[in-house]
Amino acid sequence: MKRLLASARAMEREQVQVLRELVECESPSESAADIGRFNDLFAAKAADVAKVKTVAAGRYGRHMIVEFILPGPRQKTGQILALGHSDTVWPLGTLQTMPWREEKGRLWGPGVLDMKGGMAQLLFAVRALRELDVPVEKRVVMQINCDEEIGSPASRSLTEKMAGTSDAVLVLEPGTGLGGKLKTARKGIGRYGLKVEGVAAHAGVDFAAGASAVLELARQVERISDFTDLKRGVTVNVGVVAGGTRSNVIAAAAEAEIDIRVPRLKDFAALEGRFRKLRAADRRCRLFLEGGLNRPPMERSAGVARLAKLAIRLAKEIGVSVEESSTGGGSDGNFTAALGVATLDGLGSVGEGAHAPHESIVVRRIADRTALLAGLLASI
Ligand SMILES: [Zn+2]
Repeated sequence: MKRLLASARAMEREQVQVLRELVECESPSESAADIGRFNDLFAAKAADVAKVKTVAAGRYGRHMIVEFILPGPRQKTGQILALGHSDTVWPLGTLQTMPWREEKGRLWGPGVLDMKGGMAQLLFAVRALRELDVPVEKRVVMQINCDEEIGSPASRSLTEKMAGTSDAVLVLEPGTGLGGKLKTARKGIGRYGLKVEGVAAHAGVDFAAGASAVLELARQVERISDFTDLKRGVTVNVGVVAGGTRSNVIAAAAEAEIDIRVPRLKDFAALEGRFRKLRAADRRCRLFLEGGLNRPPMERSAGVARLAKLAIRLAKEIGVSVEESSTGGGSDGNFTAALGVATLDGLGSVGEGAHAPHESIVVRRIADRTALLAGLLASI
């Protein structure tokens, strides 16, 4: 591990330069053309250490499969899948207000933490392993999805297929907080849309004939919000409501968008049951519910715990203490863990401000995170 760390340190400036190029190549989820440009750039940076191919993702652009060429047996046994995503939440032109900069010991810019830093890390972990000729037993493949920030609609099946033939999955999402904690549990995430159909009427002339969809929705919002169970970690958030047309019209329609988070799959079954049992308080109104679970929870299985233990031991060899953490946010690791494949998440950069204007990573943690990733590839 010490040699890997020294090698990562020696390449640190080069890694920062590559990361700068990745960040300055904006790649919002909405723009297939810009995702394509990012793919080309990444492929060029990895050309001397990997075989790269792309997979069509319809209107979202293309995913990438990067198979690294590593020391060790030519005929590898088993596979390690690393997960990245090329898309960011930042619209085109964000660089004008959030330009790349290096100051206060940090690197700043859109997507630097989530998750271009993590992908640069893997590229240089591979370089360190090659430079030191450290044997790697398993095939190492990185899958770079182009639709993660919008819920992975086009990549989910590919992620599940690739995970199915892998012994372990390493997710290059940022670690938790400025300690860079590993993520060994993630909540499952779902979404519901609730539409209410009421009966329109003149609010002055014909009040009693109306059945307000707005009032009905307000009652449902209160019921739904009560499904939250903080002790179990189950949360239900009615985040968007809309309804009605004018103040003097009894509303004929109203609707809400609801976000749910569940730590365990069985919590979802119970919650789903409660949603499906919703009935209108005013019988003249009708409810229409759609949606469900999008990402299943990543539960801390024995395989997840085993990978975390290995990472903690390897980090300790270079004097770095890492811990485990759980989070309410999801990643593509939710899909792989739910299939029962050992998954370790949060192995990317150390920093803060994902999806926020102060998005940044800590420069002095680049080398040890890179070495940790290299160590894992050689030890799994
Ligand atoms: Zn991410």
